[in-house]
Amino acid sequence: MKRRGSLTVICGGMFAGKSEELIRLIRRSLYAKKKVQAFKHAYDTRYSETEIATHEGVKLNAVAVRNSSDLERLLLPDTEVVAIEEAQFFDPLLPDLCNRLADRGRTVLVAGLDQDFRREPFGPMPKLLALADEVVKLRAICVRCGNIASHTQRLVDGRPASYHDPIVLIGASERYEARCRHCHELPDAPKPRKRSRPRPSSNPSYVHEERGLFDDNGRT
Ligand SMILES: [Zn+2]
Repeated sequence: MKRRGSLTVICGGMFAGKSEELIRLIRRSLYAKKKVQAFKHAYDTRYSETEIATHEGVKLNAVAVRNSSDLERLLLPDTEVVAIEEAQFFDPLLPDLCNRLADRGRTVLVAGLDQDFRREPFGPMPKLLALADEVVKLRAICVRCGNIASHTQRLVDGRPASYHDPIVLIGASERYEARCRHCHELPDAPKPRKRSRPRPSSNPSYVHEERGLFDDNGRT
């Protein structure tokens, strides 16, 4: 077997087309007669227990697993392409597993939400993005204004979810929308702290470097 190996991460908000892109890459591998195994997190039970499904109804078989060690245990020795969906729900060990699999010559395709409804980095996604050979960031269209949307608006009983609502709220009546940064609403979010001016440093090279990057007029 040729030892190639790579880690591709498909990220973005909801309704950006992450599942479609993952399915496209899986299909491409299947046409090339590669041995593919697809996994998704067991939390994601929408539409089907054992398939990767897009909002448009396209489906592909996948095994639902609870964590990265279950995933590793279920991997077959001759699998060439490992696809993982809903990566944001996985444990912190998933990025290292993906990296290891890519080092050993497998093609690893990972899809997941890069931000939660608070616009904060989601689960193991930041590390996956850092380790990836290729990152595909997909964006949706804001349902409010038609701008490009990178964020996911969460609505509980039709109202914007509070900052303090837990990320996984099973059984509640909630839905999601694609929103741009201007239209995204997050009640009860802590106010961002004002940045104080940097204190004069005793290290002259540090001061020099800082002036070099941004002078008083904001020029670089
Ligand atoms: Zn908008």
